[in-house]
Amino acid sequence: MGIFKKFGFGLKKTREGMTGRIEDVLGAYEEITDDLFDDLEEALIMGDVGVKTATDIVEELRKRVHKNEVRNPKHAKMIIADIVADMIDGGEDMGLITIPSVILVIGVNGVGKTTTIGKLAAMYKKEGKKVILGAADTFRAAAIEQLEVWADRAGVDIVKHKEGADPAAVVYDTISAGISRDCDIIICDTAGRLHNKKNLMDELAKIYRVVEKELPYADREILLVLDATTGQNAVSQAKEFMNVAELTGIALTKLDGTARGGVVLAIKNELKLPVKFIGVGEQIDDLQPFNPKVFAKALFEDTSSEEE
Ligand code: GDP
Ligand code: MG
Repeated sequence: MGIFKKFGFGLKKTREGMTGRIEDVLGAYEEITDDLFDDLEEALIMGDVGVKTATDIVEELRKRVHKNEVRNPKHAKMIIADIVADMIDGGEDMGLITIPSVILVIGVNGVGKTTTIGKLAAMYKKEGKKVILGAADTFRAAAIEQLEVWADRAGVDIVKHKEGADPAAVVYDTISAGISRDCDIIICDTAGRLHNKKNLMDELAKIYRVVEKELPYADREILLVLDATTGQNAVSQAKEFMNVAELTGIALTKLDGTARGGVVLAIKNELKLPVKFIGVGEQIDDLQPFNPKVFAKALFEDTSSEEE
């Protein structure tokens, strides 16, 4: 399957849900009225874009409809697609120029951190970069083993300590190994299961201090992994993490097979956080750099001609 096809396929449910509902609303009106705007807002909220973002989209639609003297409801769909494309555009590129560069991957348990790291490792390796992974989720032995399996699959090095070891010490050793082995990219896993916010904050702060001290001039990305199937809950999680870490972007996983892909809009519009990667499956090549134009296009493709 080509990238666009696979991607479009992954968004099928979101498209059927959100875009299908939008099409239903537009099809039910002869002309553009206030009621139509209200119904659209509701359709967007049902599509997991969140109340604020739904309101913003409809407000912008009102402006553009008025400005361009649009009367036919059917023409509103392409305007909505443009509004969405503008809304999610920008900041999606990774800023990793220095050698080495560092990626810290954070997020709650089960969202797909370790899997995403495996996919990232494979992606960068394919680009000809040398990658090393740090198993700084030391909470459970299984988490370390799982990252080892991914390192193996991707064909990259890994640094690990024993279960229960100090995560910052793992990060320190990973950076040292990354430097001595001439790695381009150092990616560290972290634990998602910390007892409380203070605990999490302390641990992340300790990890940053290590990165700051060992690689003060290195580019770094702090990627928060969010599970798209959790919808608006993912937005709440992002808000929590924004309080404890200087996030540079989001990796949104499990977009395959969820109808809640509208959450991409909320993350960018409400939190001003760029989505940098999307996960569309459990396989090693099921990670894609986020492309706002392709996303918007895939989301607003015609749903009427879709086969089951
Ligand atoms: P972690 O606890 O955050 O490290 O999460 P894991 O990487 O262990 O992933 C939790 C589960 O989510 C695993 O069963 C993964 O296979 C699955 N998963 C991760 N990313 C995706 C994705 O993009 N799509 C699907 N369908 N499953 C995913
Ligand atoms: Mg994990």
